[in-house]
Amino acid sequence: MELPEQQFNTWIRPLPPAEVIHAEGVTCVSVRVPNRFMLDWIRTQYSARLEAILTELNGSEVRLDIAQAARATMPMQAGPALRPPGMVMPGRALPPNAQFASNSGQPLMPPQQAAAYPQQTGHSTGQAPVQGGPAMVTLPQYQDAAPNRSRSQPQVMGLNPALTFDNLVPGRANQMARTAALHVAGAPGHMYNPLFIYGGVGLGKTHLMNAVGNALLADKPDARILYLHAEQFISDVVKNYQRKTFDELKAKYHQLDLLLIDDVQFFAGKDRTQEEFFNAFEALLAKKAHIIMTSDTYPKGLANIDERLTSRFDSGLTVAIEPPELEMRVAILIKKAALEAIDMPEDVAFFVAKNVRANVRELEGALRKVLAFAKFSHKEITIALAREALKDLLSIQNRQISVENIQKTVADFYKIKVADMYSKKRPASIAKPRQIAMYLAKELTQKSLPEIGELFGGRDHTTVLHAVRKIMGERGKDTELNQQLHVLEQTLKG
Ligand code: ADP
Ligand code: MG
Repeated sequence: MELPEQQFNTWIRPLPPAEVIHAEGVTCVSVRVPNRFMLDWIRTQYSARLEAILTELNGSEVRLDIAQAARATMPMQAGPALRPPGMVMPGRALPPNAQFASNSGQPLMPPQQAAAYPQQTGHSTGQAPVQGGPAMVTLPQYQDAAPNRSRSQPQVMGLNPALTFDNLVPGRANQMARTAALHVAGAPGHMYNPLFIYGGVGLGKTHLMNAVGNALLADKPDARILYLHAEQFISDVVKNYQRKTFDELKAKYHQLDLLLIDDVQFFAGKDRTQEEFFNAFEALLAKKAHIIMTSDTYPKGLANIDERLTSRFDSGLTVAIEPPELEMRVAILIKKAALEAIDMPEDVAFFVAKNVRANVRELEGALRKVLAFAKFSHKEITIALAREALKDLLSIQNRQISVENIQKTVADFYKIKVADMYSKKRPASIAKPRQIAMYLAKELTQKSLPEIGELFGGRDHTTVLHAVRKIMGERGKDTELNQQLHVLEQTLKG
């Protein structure tokens, strides 16, 4: 009753019966789902609520254990995930420049397609379907265009096995792109073809597209996948052009299940390459192979690329990856440190995330510096150490501390809205951070009390004075508050 019917039908209804185990006063409800992307989605979106409902119904604690079914025992049923990602996130607005498009303006999931969706079992044996054979089950994405293909031929080229969904931190910035990518990994050749992912440098485009390849490979070890940078494609075309060996080129590209082609903006001005790519593109789409492309801009924004091509790029699904917001940057730092078995204190992650904003690649660079610095100096990871390690990087940034910056930093730190800094709201969860921000404004800027009052929604200077005195007094007694103020001061001073 809480979910829109479509969502219920897509994610909850297809679940197989659960197994219930009682042990030591706890009830464990164990559910097995057919594939990886369904697992991810149900875990992140629904498991907490499901657990709460089960606990309520049961009258005592219920633990929900959701995992992927072993291949052989997978239930026979239609696959999930044929929903436009934007719609599965109630209450979340689309990022400003994200685009969703579907061919011919149809809904992204025609119901008959959901019904015709092949189930995911039993075709990882690698046997090519016998052409024209009688009782062949047709599995569109694995129909083999080259039945004679040698089994010893490498099926996967260019993928980086380190770039997986597991180590891609999800967040608002990549939510839609990640969701779409998960869908493609689970059902290549169906929805969202081609998938066009665009965004600035270092935001995770290459990572995401490799994750699709790796996920598909884990699911279907026999899938033929090719990852390559657009520049490699260009040089391939040039080479084959010189040697007049276009048939080889065709054979290489036209027989894939999944083609991942990175940074297509590099096709700009390369007419011959564009033509070849167009041919490969059409051939692959015709046999329902999946194509994923990345670019630094949306298809229509690509300069010097034939319009025939850019409009084809736009004919599946186009999604943007945005720069990560603060919370996501913190999560990325903690996750990356954890991957190296290092426990990154949250205040240090906050400090670094606050000061390194551009993209994930820079964030990684900063993290590497901090970790190396800690290792070689045999010191604990603290804000002071991070500041030392990132000295060069921080000194380039403008270190003028403004009241706005203080308001923003304090709001981020206490997870309230910046607008609450000016609002008249009084609950302690808001009033206290506001007083802290006033205190820091007095301490760290040259502004007078009336000026500060003005910047906090036109408050009287006596209100500011009261806040400053109160926080100063509490700081002496409350070590936790003192510690928080310390983190904020360090962060603001950079
Ligand atoms: P792009 O292709 O958009 O320039 P990359 O995919 O090369 O960016 O990402 C840059 C670096 O940041 C890579 O090391 C990648 O693993 C990492 N990265 C990007 N986004 C994330 C994320 N959400 N979680 C974890 N690591 C990420
Ligand atoms: Mg890239």
